[in-house]
Amino acid sequence: MDFSPGISYFLGQLSKAFLAPGSHVSLLSLLCAFFIAVFFVAARRLRGGRRLRLRTLLRALFPKHIVMSRSTVADLGYFYFNLFLFGIIFGWALLSYEVLSHGVADLLAATFGPRQPTALPAAVTRTVITVMLFLAYELGYWLNHYLSHRVSFLWEFHKVHHSATVLTPLTNFRVHPIYMCIFLNILAAFTGLASGVIEYAFGQTTHQYGLSENNIILVFFIYVYVHLQHTQVWISFTGWLGRLFMSPAHHQIHHSRNPAHFNKNLGSCLALWDWMFGTLYVPSAEPEKLEFGVEPDRAHAHTIRGELIAPFGRAALALKQSIERRSPVPLVAPEQKRA
Ligand SMILES: [Zn+2]
Ligand SMILES: [Zn+2]
Repeated sequence: MDFSPGISYFLGQLSKAFLAPGSHVSLLSLLCAFFIAVFFVAARRLRGGRRLRLRTLLRALFPKHIVMSRSTVADLGYFYFNLFLFGIIFGWALLSYEVLSHGVADLLAATFGPRQPTALPAAVTRTVITVMLFLAYELGYWLNHYLSHRVSFLWEFHKVHHSATVLTPLTNFRVHPIYMCIFLNILAAFTGLASGVIEYAFGQTTHQYGLSENNIILVFFIYVYVHLQHTQVWISFTGWLGRLFMSPAHHQIHHSRNPAHFNKNLGSCLALWDWMFGTLYVPSAEPEKLEFGVEPDRAHAHTIRGELIAPFGRAALALKQSIERRSPVPLVAPEQKRA
């Protein structure tokens, strides 16, 4: 039996994920996040008048109870699943970004007349496109996340991400395939729509500034703080900065079991949309004591049965209950009613 296609696929996925500098999980960006975390932890210790030792620093960054947690093992399982299997089984978006983009541009041309080529320099149009596509990505992310929290049926699939009881950069991968499919299609709709409008406005197809096919602004945030959002290192933006950008502490608040934090901070890199739509919770400068997860660990928590298969049954039940009530889908997810 020839295993070489499987091995080359495995290695190809690995190098795409870790070596491409613009990837969501590039080694370079992880290293960058690590040094930023070291800086913040060291600065906090020095401010508190405590001694700085490499061993204590490493222990603060990689506490045994987090590294050895069952939750982290489940994150690792999802990391493997999403990196190597998701592409084969579910890795398609029903909506095609390109088809939608050209369709919107054609529709606008049919409605408002043919496109006029722009006289603007290419660097200007590319910058505008880069910013617009980033904002469209962020808005699509926010809306998908909002629906995932507010619609019971969708919440059952998103809850998998929230069932993590400790946060590590691997938790980013702890997302159910159904959530991922809906997310990818909403993203394709938002970015395709924005791209079509831009294509019509500038009268040409230009491309965003990117790195490894990712929007360069998004890549910037991945390097600076996206990985740190799924850690327990408290780095918070307050004041106006906290209204614009989703600091690591913002997202840690999002994972909190405290009812005061439920359904808050739904953005990805930006806090802007949360601020605009009233779902923002700006964290304090000093660390807040947080517990993570949605409910006490239930039977089969952090297992394939509990995190991959059971959500289908719970989502079907949520849907059935919604239909039986013959009313619109409940706006508040069951676990989040505790408040
Ligand atoms: Zn969430
Ligand atoms: Zn998260």
